[in-house]
Amino acid sequence: MKEGKLQVIPLGGLGEFGMNCMALRYEDDIIVIDAGMMFPEEELLGVDVVIPDFSYLEENRAHVRALILTHGHEDHIGATPFLLAELNIPVYGTEFTLALAGRRLEEHDLKDRVKLNVVRPGQTVEIGPFKVRFLHVTHSIVSALALAITTPVGMVIHTGDFKVDPTPTDNDMFDLHTFAECGKNGVLLLMSDSTNVDRAGYTESERAVRPRLEDILNRADRRVIVSCFSSSVHRLQQLVDLAHEFGRKVCFLGRSMVNVTEIAHSLGLLHVPDRILLRPQDLGSIARDKLMVIVSGTQGEPMSALSRVAVDDHKNLSIEPGDTVVLSSRIIPGNEKAIYRMINHLSRRGADVIYGSMNPPVHVSGHASAEELKLVLNLVRPKYFMPIHGEYRQLAKHAALAEHLKFAGLEETFLLETGETLLLGSNGARKGPRVNVGRVCIDSGTLDEVVEDLVIRDRRHLSEDGFVLPIVAINKLTGKCEGLPELVSRGFMSGEESSAILHEASQVVARTLELSSAEERTDWGVMKEKIRTDLRRYLTKETSRRPLIMPVILEI
Ligand SMILES: [Zn+2]
Ligand SMILES: [Zn+2]
Repeated sequence: MKEGKLQVIPLGGLGEFGMNCMALRYEDDIIVIDAGMMFPEEELLGVDVVIPDFSYLEENRAHVRALILTHGHEDHIGATPFLLAELNIPVYGTEFTLALAGRRLEEHDLKDRVKLNVVRPGQTVEIGPFKVRFLHVTHSIVSALALAITTPVGMVIHTGDFKVDPTPTDNDMFDLHTFAECGKNGVLLLMSDSTNVDRAGYTESERAVRPRLEDILNRADRRVIVSCFSSSVHRLQQLVDLAHEFGRKVCFLGRSMVNVTEIAHSLGLLHVPDRILLRPQDLGSIARDKLMVIVSGTQGEPMSALSRVAVDDHKNLSIEPGDTVVLSSRIIPGNEKAIYRMINHLSRRGADVIYGSMNPPVHVSGHASAEELKLVLNLVRPKYFMPIHGEYRQLAKHAALAEHLKFAGLEETFLLETGETLLLGSNGARKGPRVNVGRVCIDSGTLDEVVEDLVIRDRRHLSEDGFVLPIVAINKLTGKCEGLPELVSRGFMSGEESSAILHEASQVVARTLELSSAEERTDWGVMKEKIRTDLRRYLTKETSRRPLIMPVILEI
């Protein structure tokens, strides 16, 4: 009898940052690990979300058995609705991960037809020829899993995202024992998170942020406003605990912050003392030194709660002199400009803004540094190693970290990029044939918006609905708009109807400008986004068309 081969098929996240997705195939059975998204880079104008091209899975739809989610970060679950709209397959994950993914499915009206299977660490699930065991790992989000998958050709370990936190805030320890046990029994292939491979030593424990936060609270005699990722439940727990100790009430601000804290609280993962919570509309009713506001928007996203607070555009909160604002997060490369702009706005209003790397830190990473990566490599001692989750430079560095294992059973390290495949059988491992991969850009996160390649999308927009160029002239000295915004269009509409619509549209743009503060008007990133959003809403409503909108701002 001919023995089958295991095929490892990265569909996203190798050689690029984000949109993690990995398929494992044995004969006619395929399982998929994670379906993440990527936030678009600036040049992807008008695109809201980028997801992997799932055509390989669609072409093999009869064989795809399940989607397994390692944890609830967007770069692992963000594309779930788009995959499940095409393939109705069961989903496995922890209760918290599935609650977050479920929220995404609800937004796309898919929740009722998808089977969500809650799993717990330590549990094993059989899916076709795969026996998937779930191992608890520590990460910046709660309820993160690694996978130990028994296949007909041997065991495969997929770490998911992790760090090895020796003192996790919830005392839920990284399952080093099972990693070691698997290593002892023999692991064919290890796939491990490369995100932080550039950092020497060990990543600090989540608890390391407490001393600095405590110090900040000790000194603050006005309001304390802290921003962190809404999914960082460990961080939120520490903040709530500290607020409680310092006799401050807590208010969660921002849609994602409110949503995630509600989910975490309902699942018993976030403990909130009685009567400590304050509703946003009651913020004014409390003494300034008795308040901590926890708000979303660490990356200066134009429409996020903190960005709006920073320019006095939030209905419940504005900055007053003496307030302390803490950005308890990292600056994601590419977001520097937006974040510094937001910090400028906050500082101008008299806030003491605490951000960036300092010692002791206000933020620690959720990913393993070099020594932790070596620890996992040494415990697992795989026959083959394949770095995952990172750009090529990070994968290459991670490969180099495993060099020493050549003397402890490591036969080969494979540096694969998305679309390349690996074949594993009894007579060894080798690169296999390429599969079709790519990036798919999506507008406004809706499913009816056909999912396709960026260039094709732009061409379709142009050929069907044309484009509209709102041109706005802003006076550098006064910050005011000079005259009515001009709208240029091609291939959009013609005749009288068109001039009426475009005239009305230029009023819409004028109104957007009027309703923006002087500060916002000097912030071109914010203005372009606001103009695009308002104009798109107007044109879709009036004409049911979706032309490509490219705002142009001239400073005169
Ligand atoms: Zn990740
Ligand atoms: Zn993660």
